[in-house]
Amino acid sequence: MRMTIERTLSIIKPDATRRNITGAINHRLERGGLRIIAQKRIQLSQGQAERFYEVHAGRPFYRDLVAFMSSGPILVQVLEGENAVVLNREIMGATDPVNAAPGTIRKDFAESIEANSVHGSDSPENAEEEIAFFFSTIEICP
Ligand code: GDP
Repeated sequence: MRMTIERTLSIIKPDATRRNITGAINHRLERGGLRIIAQKRIQLSQGQAERFYEVHAGRPFYRDLVAFMSSGPILVQVLEGENAVVLNREIMGATDPVNAAPGTIRKDFAESIEANSVHGSDSPENAEEEIAFFFSTIEICP
């Protein structure tokens, strides 16, 4: 099988920065085989959160999600590794922690289906767009 080195956009969400568990989450990412090649701590404005989650604009939880994601600091990260998009989704676990597999970040750290500690791109195409949303090329150091 050919190796595919990919990049994906990761976010450590406000519920996790509030509980000061960003190091524990980064440890899970690194232990799982991903390399953090860019990282910064920011707080999204409401407008920035609306833009980032625009694809969910029609969903019933959109307003709550935007309010939550702009409620406190987040860590935005670029992760690199073999099949990084799918690998990160595996390390994260299912959206709802109730359904997340044992040993995943969301199983062990998420507070709820909304405050679920991490975001990860769901396709290489979206990863590229999401990385460009937060990072310029000189901020990414492979
Ligand atoms: P993900 O790709 O696993 O993050 O899941 P989605 O793309 O479906 O949803 C994006 C984010 O919206 C999730 O990570 C949650 O923070 C939030 N979310 C998803 N479903 C629900 C829901 O039913 N209720 C609420 N309040 N938030 C949700």
